Amino acid sequence: RIVYLDGAWLAETEAKVSVFDRGFLFADAVYEVTAVIGGRLIDYAGHAARLQRSLSELSLACPLGPDALLSVHREIVARNALKEGLIYLQISRGAADRDFVFPKAARPTLVLFTQAKAVLDNPSNATGIAVVTLPDQRWARRDIKTVQLLYPSMAKMEAVRQGADDAWLVEDGFVTEATSANAHIVTRGGTLVTRPLSHAILPGITRASIVSLARGAGIPVEERAFTPEEAKEAQEAFVTSATNFALPVTTIDGTPVGDGRPGPLTARMRALYIADRLTLTEP
Ligand code: PLP
Repeated sequence: RIVYLDGAWLAETEAKVSVFDRGFLFADAVYEVTAVIGGRLIDYAGHAARLQRSLSELSLACPLGPDALLSVHREIVARNALKEGLIYLQISRGAADRDFVFPKAARPTLVLFTQAKAVLDNPSNATGIAVVTLPDQRWARRDIKTVQLLYPSMAKMEAVRQGADDAWLVEDGFVTEATSANAHIVTRGGTLVTRPLSHAILPGITRASIVSLARGAGIPVEERAFTPEEAKEAQEAFVTSATNFALPVTTIDGTPVGDGRPGPLTARMRALYIADRLTLTEP
């Protein structure tokens, strides 16, 4: 693979970041993941906007302007002849003597790499995934997409240890989100329920698109928190993320959701999202 590092295009084995980089020492870095289908960027405008927001919450500046950033995304797809998969982007505060105070002089480190992956043809889509509920023990600013991913990684490991595919995290009795996706349910009455945006969850770009597509299609949407108990009694459950689009959840803590099979509204939202984003991709 050819990766991008601070203005240079390098073979992946040649790209090196300092041991003093604050992304490495403090998780002082933000990231984005953008899906690529047919060589095109999916929902790029949303990811670029959220990146700016994450940076500004951490008083970090993007090393590239908006046009240059889009060009680098297009160029990395071209250089790697990427047809389907994802682009990972990370910006850290850069290298400086280790100090809790943000260094004034550090120059941000910008890294992009690609990962080829079949995102459209995901076998889990036909079966649905099993989730278990676990306490949400992440920090309190989950709205910022930082690389501080240790707890989500531990939670996913615990879910896998229990024989499931992922965890739904629970705080004060309500589901926040999955380890790397937003969580949604469909009530027996056909209403799509999703937790409102706050510091408790990441404002998913796919979540925003799905909510707006659902509203546009006349599907009732309620933005409110829901409990694991309500989710287990729901008609359908699903998760959304850049590379999973809408993916059915068929069991929660071993309890089948609805009839235990992927639900029709989830499939409809997935199809709507893919059709819509394939025509409405790059700015
Ligand atoms: N929530 C968390 C914690 C995530 O890490 C992610 C993305 O990976 C999402 C939600 C979904 O966000 P998006 O749809 O922008 O990929």
